[in-house]
Amino acid sequence: EPEESLARLDISKLTIRLTDAPKPLPDLKTLVFGVSFSDHMATTSFHPATGWSTPEIKPYAPLTLDPASSCFQYGCNVFEGMKAYLGPDSKARLFRPELNMRRLERSMERLALPPINGDAVLELIKRFVQIEKRWIPKLPGYSFYLRPTVIGTRAELGPAASDQAVLYIIACPSGPYWSHPASLLAVNDTVRAWPGGTGGHKVGGNYSPGFLPQREASAQGYNQVLWLFGEEQRVMEAGAMNVFVVVRRADGDGLDVLTPPLDGMILPGVTRASCLELAADPTFHAHISIDGSIEGTTLYPGERVFTLSDLERWSTSGDLVEFLCVGTAAVVAAVHDIGFDGRVVVRVPTYPDDPNGLGPVGRALREQILAVQEGRKEYKG
Ligand code: PMP
Repeated sequence: EPEESLARLDISKLTIRLTDAPKPLPDLKTLVFGVSFSDHMATTSFHPATGWSTPEIKPYAPLTLDPASSCFQYGCNVFEGMKAYLGPDSKARLFRPELNMRRLERSMERLALPPINGDAVLELIKRFVQIEKRWIPKLPGYSFYLRPTVIGTRAELGPAASDQAVLYIIACPSGPYWSHPASLLAVNDTVRAWPGGTGGHKVGGNYSPGFLPQREASAQGYNQVLWLFGEEQRVMEAGAMNVFVVVRRADGDGLDVLTPPLDGMILPGVTRASCLELAADPTFHAHISIDGSIEGTTLYPGERVFTLSDLERWSTSGDLVEFLCVGTAAVVAAVHDIGFDGRVVVRVPTYPDDPNGLGPVGRALREQILAVQEGRKEYKG
């Protein structure tokens, strides 16, 4: 907590300066993710003598920063990714944004950035979304992606915690991520996260080391990297998404819906938490129908370690039902095969009848989450 004398972020004094040159909205048919930013940005900065400054919403513009700033030198950067959706009632909605705010507070703490009150950041985000409302696409499957970012701005080369920071929020319209089942390349020569590292936090430095293996995966014709960990080749995450595996239970009673546990190496995704909670809700099970025959299959959600060889075994025995990638961008997406060491080692059943190639559990999870996001349903956790 900042000392009493330091100002906490206070939204009541927000200043708003609107652009006099609003941009044309991008054509949604040719929209590329993360390229067309909206008219404004929200900002506030922290100084050790005064705390968080009066927040501002102002026209989107470059930042001016000292080249010695710790964000450039030592990677003191954290961010969040969340979406605003327009409901059938034309109201803008955020999906469980308190979870993003808690995660932002924790990420900042992990990098010893100045502390912030996430509730006030959320208020700032809500005011920003209201101002940018015309940028939220009205088409189903589309949304307005928000990127709250905090950078360390201490302009000294001594490698120490940044006692100064800038928080800004930028945003862009975004469309459906993948509609085809993806292929993953499992890698074990590079790791995304390790015990005691920062994998469980949303810090910028977790991402750039993944770009080289991602380039290699693309060169081999795969969509994303499947991150493994350790000698036993534990399955961790796919690209910047959490993963779930759906497996038939040995006793034939229902399906295990498994995701790796939050051991500090897994990013605690909002979508991941929502999938686990939905899969634990007996009223949700009624939506699951396997082969169109068994209505209301029981699901057994669990946070459990599983390995690449578990996946190979389940795929060979025919017990592997689905492999899913989940996250804000993709919501819930299907995987059809996993490659490793030059060959495909896991084949996941395909579901060509589903528009996204999702199996029974993935389809129901995606539908329920989208219904809440788009304001057709209230979230019941
Ligand atoms: N893993 C990583 C590494 C991520 O960057 C993200 C995106 N925040 C996720 C998982 C999914 O998290 P969420 O559901 O909160 O978007």
